Amino acid sequence: MSLPHLLLDIDGVLIPFPCRDGTTPDTHLRHDVLPAGRDPADPVAVWLNPDHGPILREVIRTGLVSLTWCTSWRQDAATVIGPLLDLPPLPYVDLPHPRITTSHPRGYLWKRDHVDAWLGGAPAAWIDDDFTSLDHIWAAERTARGFPTLLVQPDPGIGLQPGHLTAVLDWVRKSGPPPPARPGSSGRAAGDRAPR
Ligand SMILES: [Mg+2]
Repeated sequence: MSLPHLLLDIDGVLIPFPCRDGTTPDTHLRHDVLPAGRDPADPVAVWLNPDHGPILREVIRTGLVSLTWCTSWRQDAATVIGPLLDLPPLPYVDLPHPRITTSHPRGYLWKRDHVDAWLGGAPAAWIDDDFTSLDHIWAAERTARGFPTLLVQPDPGIGLQPGHLTAVLDWVRKSGPPPPARPGSSGRAAGDRAPR
């Protein structure tokens, strides 16, 4: 029996968007990082809250969810961002690389179709700053079909707050045990890759 997934975005969630004046919250520290394939002479500046490491490790420690990266950082989430927060190696959803100029090319989050297929029938909480009303309708319909789904949407200028994770854990506890695996459902264990 698989645990509910907790899908976690990075940009706008762990890395807040800068204010119009270019500043970020005082809670966040700058790191210059090198995603895979990046020119070492051209690192990427990111801002992370060191308090996020302990609260995410505590979520892992509960054993209630399978924490999984779901971000355009893809594998770099596990190899570059996670270690800066002292997080253990975590699986990631291997999102495609669509040629899009908006996060919502069909009116909903570009990740969603891939995530929907990746999840199969697994219950899931998903933290992302970029859902639209169509994504919330999708979550409600998925839940109604017997696949519990919770969307949590932080303010991208502030990012992840402890209450967001409390809401996820409360939801898992109230949702009860995950349903038995169904034919065709993923029921993926930590470390598995998503289908392409
Ligand atoms: Mg985001």
